[in-house]
Amino acid sequence: MRRALFLSVMLCVCAMGCSSEKTNRTLRAPTVVVAESYPAVIADPVPECRAAILVYHHVNPHSVGETPPLRAMTVSHVAFAAQMQHLYDAKYAVVSLDAVSACLTSSVPLPEKAVVITLDDGWSSQYVYALPILEKYHFTATFFVVTNLVLERDGGGLLSWPQVKDLDKRGMTIGSHSKTHPNLTLLGDAQLKDEVAGSKKMIEDRLGKPARHFAYPFGFVNDRVVAAVRGAGYVSARGTVDGTHQQARDLYTLKVVYVTDDFKMFARNIAQ
Ligand SMILES: [Zn+2]
Repeated sequence: MRRALFLSVMLCVCAMGCSSEKTNRTLRAPTVVVAESYPAVIADPVPECRAAILVYHHVNPHSVGETPPLRAMTVSHVAFAAQMQHLYDAKYAVVSLDAVSACLTSSVPLPEKAVVITLDDGWSSQYVYALPILEKYHFTATFFVVTNLVLERDGGGLLSWPQVKDLDKRGMTIGSHSKTHPNLTLLGDAQLKDEVAGSKKMIEDRLGKPARHFAYPFGFVNDRVVAAVRGAGYVSARGTVDGTHQQARDLYTLKVVYVTDDFKMFARNIAQ
């Protein structure tokens, strides 16, 4: 428990409130198409890809003596259940990160009220508490695991490879959150590549399928890190800027909605 608490603070203390460096890219201007005998038609090459990408860490009962950082990173299983019920009742469409990527890169439209559920750091409590609730509503989610911290056997505070394989078998997506959860912006080129490409390979070797999505540890990112993630073959990466209106320039710094126990804030943030 002490180890889990320590890891929790180490993994998560910066995830809320740490701002990412934004990459600067120029938006393509809308193309105006004028047909000879028809009114002017405006074709916008930048699709409207609205999706609330929810970020969870711990999903489990709150504990006595929980530190403020840990409490901030924990959504109780009761609150999580209420949030999933709300997605269901309010007819939100839970989609995958692949769907968001396809919208941003190929203009494949997303359904209205699209939501992506992501869970970070590979806590075994996500398997115990979140998975059954997700399955109750037939929702899928992406689990971003820190590959070197995944255990060989069940029984610790972190997910095991058998649990990760089971999540994959049940239709969940397994994404990479690096090998050891470092601040990637501080690493040299070789280490950066090892964390980004090495974790991808580890997931692929274990699951026998591509790992397509990445989440930056602590949310720390710069252009060099984005280039490493893109170069390793990931199709998207989750950033840390709040928001739901994803644009083409956001593909490797996807906007997010952080979730706490606060139901009103949850409902308001996903509706924006
Ligand atoms: Zn993390």
